[in-house]
Amino acid sequence: MSQPSTQGPKSADLFTQAKTLIPGGVNSPVRAFRSVGGNPFFVDRAKGSRVWDVDGRELLDYVGTWGPAILGHAPDVVVDAVRTAAANGVSFGIPNPYEVEIAELIRDWVPSVEKVRMVNSGTEATMSAIRLARGYTGRSKVVKFDGCYHGHVDSLLVAAGSGALTQGTPDSAGVPAGFAAETIVVPFNDREALERVFAEQGEDIAALILEPIPANAGLILPDEGFHAFLRELTTKNGTVLIFDEVMTGFRVAKGGVQELVGITPDLTAMGKVIGGGLPVGAFGGRAEIMDCLAPLGPVYQAGTLSGNPLAMAAGLAQLREMERIDGYAHLEKLGARLEAGLRGILADIGRPLTLHRVGSMFCLFFNEKPVRNLQDSMASDGAVFNTFFHSTLADGVYFAPSAYETGFISCAHSEADIDHTLEVVEAGLRKALLS
Ligand code: PMP
Repeated sequence: MSQPSTQGPKSADLFTQAKTLIPGGVNSPVRAFRSVGGNPFFVDRAKGSRVWDVDGRELLDYVGTWGPAILGHAPDVVVDAVRTAAANGVSFGIPNPYEVEIAELIRDWVPSVEKVRMVNSGTEATMSAIRLARGYTGRSKVVKFDGCYHGHVDSLLVAAGSGALTQGTPDSAGVPAGFAAETIVVPFNDREALERVFAEQGEDIAALILEPIPANAGLILPDEGFHAFLRELTTKNGTVLIFDEVMTGFRVAKGGVQELVGITPDLTAMGKVIGGGLPVGAFGGRAEIMDCLAPLGPVYQAGTLSGNPLAMAAGLAQLREMERIDGYAHLEKLGARLEAGLRGILADIGRPLTLHRVGSMFCLFFNEKPVRNLQDSMASDGAVFNTFFHSTLADGVYFAPSAYETGFISCAHSEADIDHTLEVVEAGLRKALLS
């Protein structure tokens, strides 16, 4: 089926130029539209629930800069806070008061984080948390789940394997097999596989890292009691339990998934929402573990721009505004409206696709079977998704250009936005599934 164009003429010119200067024309591969076909459009500006491309097209956005934009794009409170901070200097490399304020706010919202260190991306947060867990335990192996993405950290760029259990092999050129061999991959929600791994190698396992609600292979829901099982297993084996809440932290609740499920990890990686759209990550947890970091302890970790005033001011402004407007309750209402509408449409057209939602995060799998892990998620019909994606984009609604991404609603989306989206989605689904 021929696809509508994803670019206007100005975007097309910019992309032609970009490709001569930037590998693939993009600074992060997910932006390249590779899996859906077509080419990326270039953004001129964004505000609230909308982005406008350089050709003047307006789009209703459910990507939200891949998670950070929980208040919508360019919220006034964040823009004002950045402006005020910038007037006093954009970076010092010397401690500033915002760093203390945001650390205190994080500790208040996420009680498992007794101490925290700010970094510049989610990747830095998970990379540092892993190094810290290894330094703290004196062990080297790491267990991760199939389909969980933790940034482009060498030892975590290990793909899923088939079968119940895979000793890691690298998922990217440039990652030495020896690094990947330190990573053990198990399917999500698979207690038996975990028990086997820990029975065989428990004494060598420094950390178990997971997205507590995986959101990078569609949106996968944990089985009842799964986190409690992980907590027990890691405590028994002296393994550091790391929740990667880069996506879910400050998004599904003030305290992330750990608040929703009542489980206390040893370390938490954070990012996205916490930075208000500026480049921010953080990792934190038990003081006893965090105090192994330099300058107190032997685990080295550093950053020229870490804790810089613009990023801290943006994050603080965003989080305080979420609290002021009771943003999480509002997002739950919008999410429920979208979910109810989608379920109604699926029933009307007689195709019960699997739909998962947690608050403002949602994923419609192009698959009618239950999805509990990566393998289930991969059963989605990519070709059908692509038709759906191009149809909704042509109608002015922007979902992420991949069947395996999670959608994000922001506080700037209105009920009318949701209702309009449902009309566009219905047309897209009819085209993709029925024609
Ligand atoms: N962890 C998770 C769960 C993520 O979703 C991401 C990014 N999508 C990362 C880590 C990496 O964050 P960043 O892209 O800021 O490096």
